[in-house]
Amino acid sequence: MEFLKELNEEQVDAEVVRLNAIVEPQINCTSCGNCCKSLMVNITSEEADRAAKRLEVTREEFDERYVEKGSHELMILNQMPCHFLSNNACTIYEDRFAGCREFPALHLPQFTQRLFTVMMHYERCPIIFNVMEGLKTSTSFQS
Ligand code: SF4
Ligand code: SF4
Repeated sequence: MEFLKELNEEQVDAEVVRLNAIVEPQINCTSCGNCCKSLMVNITSEEADRAAKRLEVTREEFDERYVEKGSHELMILNQMPCHFLSNNACTIYEDRFAGCREFPALHLPQFTQRLFTVMMHYERCPIIFNVMEGLKTSTSFQS
């Protein structure tokens, strides 16, 4: 996929957005849930407060049970699959974290700078898989 970095970044972004708009409506995330089994989710303090309230636990309990703390106040969920996934559904859906809402983030700019992350999920996420296959065709990728 390194060849994508040679292309015009804005044109690649536009093509990914176009393909994503075609592919995404055809995929039923609730019958997949793969990202929730493999995503490293960063969370903010505000998001942790909101999730703790929803789960009716104190913030201290929430952090102790679900959060791994790194440097620079970085917080990530401490388990994969995610604690809050049940029967392929998110049990805190309305209060899920920004990283969950964004994924697979194909609508965001600077796609070619996120290729490593994208390719990590290529085989797990049908949206990414199909967009990447479409991108290969539309950019005339040969391999
Ligand atoms: S919080 Fe919900 S959407 Fe986010 S990874 Fe966990 S189960 Fe998935
Ligand atoms: S891995 Fe992709 S298709 Fe599956 S639930 Fe996550 S975003 Fe949807």
